[in-house]
Amino acid sequence: MQTPVHSYEELAKKDKQYLWHPFTQMKDYLAEDPIIIARGNGRKLYDVNGNAYWDGVSSIWLNVHGHCVPELDQALRDQLDQIAHSTLLGLANIPSILLAEELIKIMPPGLAKVFYSDSGATSVEIALKMAFQYWQLRNQPDKKYFISMKEAYHGDTIGAVSVGAIDLFHKTYSSLLFQTIKIPFPYIYRSPYGDDPNEVKKRHLQQVEQVLAERSDEIAAMIVEPIVQGASGIIVMPDGYLKGLRELCDQYHVLLIADEVATGFGRTGAMFACNHEGITPDILTAGKGLTGGYLPLAITVTTDEIYNAFLGDFEEMKTFFHGHSYTGNQLGCSVALANLELFRKNRVVEDVAEKSIYLNQRLQALYELFHVGDIRQKGFMIGIELVADPFTKQPYDWTERMGVRVCGKSRELGMILRPLGDVVVFMPPLASTLEELDEMLDILYQAIKQVTES
Ligand SMILES: *Cc1c(COP(=O)(O)O)cnc(C)c1O
Repeated sequence: MQTPVHSYEELAKKDKQYLWHPFTQMKDYLAEDPIIIARGNGRKLYDVNGNAYWDGVSSIWLNVHGHCVPELDQALRDQLDQIAHSTLLGLANIPSILLAEELIKIMPPGLAKVFYSDSGATSVEIALKMAFQYWQLRNQPDKKYFISMKEAYHGDTIGAVSVGAIDLFHKTYSSLLFQTIKIPFPYIYRSPYGDDPNEVKKRHLQQVEQVLAERSDEIAAMIVEPIVQGASGIIVMPDGYLKGLRELCDQYHVLLIADEVATGFGRTGAMFACNHEGITPDILTAGKGLTGGYLPLAITVTTDEIYNAFLGDFEEMKTFFHGHSYTGNQLGCSVALANLELFRKNRVVEDVAEKSIYLNQRLQALYELFHVGDIRQKGFMIGIELVADPFTKQPYDWTERMGVRVCGKSRELGMILRPLGDVVVFMPPLASTLEELDEMLDILYQAIKQVTES
């Protein structure tokens, strides 16, 4: 059968007629001509009109090796010849078993059990429910509150929004959410404690300790985006802060949940961000890069200590009653297995760590541009904060939508970007070569220059 050919005009019309896009003011969207992606290859996306774009945000922080990767495509075809999906409720399947084994091999030491789901948000819901139920099973039902970070982002379901704190996204729903104890995330560029990372770290850890000293009897867990707080604007923690959190959580018997949905799978130049400080969380969530950017699959990984607390006779009601229709999906798990194989074969993590040094050097050139206030980078997670005045760090008026305008210009110049407020996010696929990064950085520089200096 021949694939019917649809004109751009027809597709654009139907897109506007039938779709509601995520995180999008549809009134704005309806006024513009959408880019409609037809295919991808390597680090590039191609629209139905044949224009090419660098995938400068890895299709929203997912993509690892690029698009149409032969090994990943083949893994999916092979799995399709067997079966696409059967349930994990009371049944097992081959790729979910093999993948869990491979995942445990690369996890921070001590993590032992994999619980599958299908998005970052669900992996966080699962972590929260596990931590909550764990303390009930340990006969400490008062430990039911969570510590979470200001400006955190953990996904868009109600539990994940409860531990999130980005007003623009979350405020509307505040009366629907459960209460959490919110502590500030160390943000060196705008810290009230000056710009010495060590001092910022110390002061923030003191604050955490104060909360724990007063209330640890009623706290189940602390949830944090380790090393890099992503959606708040790619904010990188001072060295030693994460390790400090781990030590405090141990000292005060509070579980530590590391949300590695964005940072996991090589994105920061280590397999997991927790590896940078040699810590093991009690629960780790991951998604995004797990399937190389191919399919929705996520994991919540925990210790035997937590898993064992849920064991008992059925009548004891210790079962973890949670699951999703597509939990452990075979297509997702087989492409994730092939993804991990490519990580090994291409030494992706080591490669990202090396290329990050080059990237860091090249990024410094952006400081030549007057309105570039702060450049934050960990591995291939980069945020460039634009400010109205770099001397006072005065932000732009938010209605100027500088981030949006820079990303619009970047599209015109041939790279897809998506901002977070006035932070221009650059998250190229991990396999991007130095030559490719050069071309992307040239566009990034030009887009910022042309918009902020016009
Ligand atoms: C993207 C993200 C999520 C949510 O993942 P989805 O797959 O979009 O539900 C959760 N936590 C962090 C840190 C993220 O960056």
